[in-house]
Amino acid sequence: MHTLAELTKQDEDQFQLRSYAKWPLALERGEGCWVFDSDGNRYLDFYGGHAVVATGHCHPKIVEAIQQQAARLIFYSNVVYNSQRGRAVRRLIESAGLPYVQAFLANSGSEANENAIKLARALTARKEIISITGSFHGRGYASLSSTGIEKYSKYLNTPVPHHTVIPIEQAAERITTGTAGVLIEPIQSLSGVRVLPVEHLRSIRDKCLENGALLMFDEVQTGVGRTGRFLYSGIEGVFPDVVTLAKGIASGFPASAVLVTEKVAREVKSGDLGTTFGGGPLACAAIEATMDVIAAEKLVENAREVGSYLSEELARIAIVETVRGAGLLLGVRMKPPFDQAKTVRQALFEKRILTGTSDDPAFLRLMPPLTLSREQAQLLIQAVASL
Ligand code: PLP
Repeated sequence: MHTLAELTKQDEDQFQLRSYAKWPLALERGEGCWVFDSDGNRYLDFYGGHAVVATGHCHPKIVEAIQQQAARLIFYSNVVYNSQRGRAVRRLIESAGLPYVQAFLANSGSEANENAIKLARALTARKEIISITGSFHGRGYASLSSTGIEKYSKYLNTPVPHHTVIPIEQAAERITTGTAGVLIEPIQSLSGVRVLPVEHLRSIRDKCLENGALLMFDEVQTGVGRTGRFLYSGIEGVFPDVVTLAKGIASGFPASAVLVTEKVAREVKSGDLGTTFGGGPLACAAIEATMDVIAAEKLVENAREVGSYLSEELARIAIVETVRGAGLLLGVRMKPPFDQAKTVRQALFEKRILTGTSDDPAFLRLMPPLTLSREQAQLLIQAVASL
């Protein structure tokens, strides 16, 4: 094993394109909510590998499922049947529950959103896609054109036509019979965990129904239990037609899904969507095992319980101004001199706790594995209290 000092001089800096501002950290191993650096130091992971490791790092059941499938069949495309793929989509759909009846499997959040947008345009034979200021939907052209954060969308020299990004308050009135679909990130994580008001979601839902537009929720980050519900979709009875999932869906193995209602499923024809790697047996082994672990270890309930404990306790700390979000997706704003999230992130990093910043400079983000225990939550609470 190499030290960080050695690693930073080596291959990644030399051969990987410099598109990331890296943390001064080389992680080599993970176990549950802990990760270990190249010098053997242990960090408590409230960043969750970017909200990805739902079942914790290297959960033995996920490791076993991937290892066994790797020895059996690493890959074959969707042109053939495969029992592992069958079990994975069944478990995913059963976990999501009605009204979602079928899934298209892809590889990343952006890809899932690109496909959802494509579906909306194809099924309605319309063009307009409405999305909401403050959302992040990925780095493909359509998903980036739907993204409502300037820092990211500015990279589009030529935004995809017919994409309209507007504040949530204006979205319902904007929907017409020319609207193909509305793409919404119901809790805008990158914007600092902004929870969109359910009354707006409901009026958008109603206007979509009235005008025959598809409502799509981007649950790449909120999905598979993070908010204390398996899906955030269905919150107070507001169900979108399409839900996109990624991040936690396979505990870190690259995978994503587009879930659809029966009405949508009926209209999709062979050839409408496709991907080479999506739904590959290895990804499916990781998806199925993730669904099993989430159910067996009651991780949705755990995210709800430990998440409320964490947010209530953090809110009691004198230097904490606001805690918002749901379950284990939390945004925390602190009072001066800690009103800059990057200062807090650095201070916690020095205490060997990993957290995330957001596009809002004031909001720190917490998105740990859903296996987080109360004791581990207390370690963060104590660290924040002692800043
Ligand atoms: N949508 C949301 C809400 C996300 O948080 C992200 C990634 O952070 C994406 C889409 C894009 O996912 P990916 O990076 O897997 O393409």
